[in-house]
Amino acid sequence: MSVRTRFAPSPTGYLHVGGARTALFSYLYARKHGGTFVLRVEDTDEARNTQEARDAIFAGMRWLGLDWDEGEGKGGDYGPYNQSERRANYDRWFEVLRDKGRVYEDGGAWRFRFERKPVVMQDLVCGEVTIDYRDESNTPDMVVRRSDGSYVFHFVNVVDDLEMKISHVIRGEDHLMNTPKHLQLFEALDAPAPHYAHIPLIQNPDGSKMSKRDTGAAVGDYPRQGFVGPAVVNFLALLGWSPKSEEEIFTMDELIARFSLEGVNRAPARFDAEKCAWVNQQHLLKMSPSFFAESARPFVAEAGLPTGEAYSAVAPLVREKVRLLTEVPAAIGYLLQDDFAIDPEAMEKVRANDAAKDLLEALARDFLALPEWSVGATKQQIGETAKAAGAKVGQLMFPLRVAISGRAGGPDLGDILGVLGRQRCVSRLRSFTATLA
Ligand code: GLU
Repeated sequence: MSVRTRFAPSPTGYLHVGGARTALFSYLYARKHGGTFVLRVEDTDEARNTQEARDAIFAGMRWLGLDWDEGEGKGGDYGPYNQSERRANYDRWFEVLRDKGRVYEDGGAWRFRFERKPVVMQDLVCGEVTIDYRDESNTPDMVVRRSDGSYVFHFVNVVDDLEMKISHVIRGEDHLMNTPKHLQLFEALDAPAPHYAHIPLIQNPDGSKMSKRDTGAAVGDYPRQGFVGPAVVNFLALLGWSPKSEEEIFTMDELIARFSLEGVNRAPARFDAEKCAWVNQQHLLKMSPSFFAESARPFVAEAGLPTGEAYSAVAPLVREKVRLLTEVPAAIGYLLQDDFAIDPEAMEKVRANDAAKDLLEALARDFLALPEWSVGATKQQIGETAKAAGAKVGQLMFPLRVAISGRAGGPDLGDILGVLGRQRCVSRLRSFTATLA
């Protein structure tokens, strides 16, 4: 049997990390098994569905790289893929239930007659779960069709999984207790049920259930917060799945190769924003310098900094210094513009060094006299200038960094000098020494 999985969001809000993770696991499972990944929109709740929510779901999935094979914009043999367009399909299967005597009218609505027996499900993550339907008072027959003619979630969800030939339903644990109802419906419709895998919920760092309003909940916020799609995919994968090794950084292809439902944890996953930022940093470090510059460019432009040739040359220098792309403008500003702020604490330290002013003035002169400007030549000159003044090189390095960048730390000093060029370095040194008493 070929593997067919689906993501079945209800477009009533933005794409939540929990939903995105469900989509990711369904996607990984399909890709791993050479199967098909279906996107079905469960838009039966007319009062709560919005076009914006639909668009946010599609945009979020595209940003994460979860390209679906059937559904919105793709077509497929089992459409339509919006529940709002499948009315005739539901009517047809409802008739099947009626013919079999499995539904009865109750005040205008129609109830499904459960088989009064224990229903055992073998969940691929949760294991065996049994729900006993023998006591009708605990498990009353359920409404499948409302008095206004609309069908309930359980019924349409089952009909769609049946018609779309879904082999594996991977969804959140909040649906675990719906599954016995779904199994009863499959049986009544004489159709084999798919395999089910219910994945553990996501909790906030404090252990409370993560809801739509919690920090980090909306996938749509991630791009402008400076995250990159592959990093968020990686982070979501680790939220409830374990590769059973110490490794943590994976590309999508590596996740496809490694993913298994056996690797999905039984316990709830804890959302950790710091971890997400760390994973993002690891993905930035794996980017080529030019791709990094490209990815950060919109943030730098938005901060009002130039993004031309000079930007492309300096961007790689700060790649190792940021976790999020939003941090790039602050990290790079002094490399692009001469009016940068000086960190007061760093300035304090320079002022405490009596030799700083003379050393920096000597260095400015020596820099001007250098026959050629290169990273190696500037580094060598720093050593020589310090030595000539009877100082240690460290006594010069720190004030030099502050004079050139306004801060105590950053990329390699030689690299900074190299990209800034001789004239800029000398003029920064001079305006800085002018501020020293
Ligand atoms: N529309 C349902 C939800 O968003 C889908 C449940 C399922 O995956 O079966 O929770």
